[in-house]
Amino acid sequence: MAIIRSIDALDPAFRPQAVEFLRRLADADIQYRIDETLRTRDVQEAYWLQSRAPLEEVNAAREKAGLYLLTEAENRVTVTWTRDSAHFTGRAIDVVPLLGRGDGRFFVPWDYAAYAGIWQRMGEIGLSLGLDWGGSWPPLIGGVIGKDPPHYQK
Ligand SMILES: [Zn+2]
Repeated sequence: MAIIRSIDALDPAFRPQAVEFLRRLADADIQYRIDETLRTRDVQEAYWLQSRAPLEEVNAAREKAGLYLLTEAENRVTVTWTRDSAHFTGRAIDVVPLLGRGDGRFFVPWDYAAYAGIWQRMGEIGLSLGLDWGGSWPPLIGGVIGKDPPHYQK
């Protein structure tokens, strides 16, 4: 088991809110992709080691967690700030916007500062439902948006 994206894997106490959030995104004509729901300890440990440990150690952890192996360049990117996470209990969901490229294909605007508007729109929808949004957590990236824009938790 590697990355889990299923809504069904969420805590039943959180799932209805997550489903409502996705419905509101659709209502707002926002295209999205669910990137992660429930997360195992092995996956979190691999994320934690990324950028903090040598590539061999990171990839050994990723192999154990069932994740694809990283390059040196990828291992320079920090992807988590914590060893603890609401994902462990299925009380968090990572959702990213998909923007049209104009040729019928879509891309994820990972440059949060450059595409802050769409992340902010989604964040406001999440916040309006009482979700805790990672894009509101300090420090701000590029001075405009919090450190974990895809992340919503209860
Ligand atoms: Zn998350």
